[in-house]
Amino acid sequence: MAPSSTLRYGKQDSHTVTVFKKWLLKLRCLVLFIVGMGLFALSLWLARNATLEGLWFGLLGGLSIGPVTHYLLAKALIPLGFGRVWCGWACWTAALLDQLPYRQSPYHLGVGWARLRYAVFFLSLGLVLLLWFGRGYRAGAVGQGAAYWFVAGNLLYWSVGVVLAIVLEDNRAFCKYVCPNAVIFKETARFSLLKVSGDARACLECPSQACLPVCPMDIRIPDYIKGGKRVLSTECIQCQVCICTCPLNTLELSAGLDLGGKDLVQTREFVTGWRKWLREHRKSR
Ligand code: SF4
Ligand code: SF4
Repeated sequence: MAPSSTLRYGKQDSHTVTVFKKWLLKLRCLVLFIVGMGLFALSLWLARNATLEGLWFGLLGGLSIGPVTHYLLAKALIPLGFGRVWCGWACWTAALLDQLPYRQSPYHLGVGWARLRYAVFFLSLGLVLLLWFGRGYRAGAVGQGAAYWFVAGNLLYWSVGVVLAIVLEDNRAFCKYVCPNAVIFKETARFSLLKVSGDARACLECPSQACLPVCPMDIRIPDYIKGGKRVLSTECIQCQVCICTCPLNTLELSAGLDLGGKDLVQTREFVTGWRKWLREHRKSR
């Protein structure tokens, strides 16, 4: 179904909106850092383990307030209206990763890499089930033990995220391939009322396709718009960078009832230094 109403921020900008877009482009990472780290500190202060393992412990223990409510709100209910706004504006893992210098994505590795998320998701569930039923460990959701788990889990995520960002030269590599929360988002965000939309005619005539290289999640935005659709990819983190960058001011946020899920992303080959050397060596023979 076509978008039913449109939030007029994007097309026909007034001076105030133009200033707002410039501000948004410059300060998004700072806002993400402040919100993300603020929420991290709050979880720690309340001694809540707001990681995926905290959710499993909470569910097994009978819906404790904290991790379960966090996941219900941020990863299930809010995405129904606003997509993966958590990932663009509030996640403490991304808050740190987005401060790294690899902001321009070199594009997505093949779709198979994203299956890693599912492995991490089920590994997390398996670990908690093992601890709960095998060792009788119950303190993973709320309390001091949970707070230690929360810190240790996030240190691990941050470390993996930083290494991946450096190796793949991509701040959001962790989000694209490893983060287990994306497994949940991929289901809930497809129902998002708010998505990026645009004018197909303008996109067809656009000489620069400037939105393509700036999208941190490598989404082929013009392909959706030219096909008369909104950006249906559940990889979209609602960062608004494409809207603020489009030189024709054709992109905007709109509210509608279309079902997302079809991922069109720019891909690249994973070429390590070793494979690059081998290829060049073969060419020179
Ligand atoms: S994909 Fe995961 S790490 Fe990335 S922003 Fe979303 S929740 Fe955070
Ligand atoms: S499509 Fe636009 S809003 Fe979505 S992730 Fe890409 S740049 Fe951000």
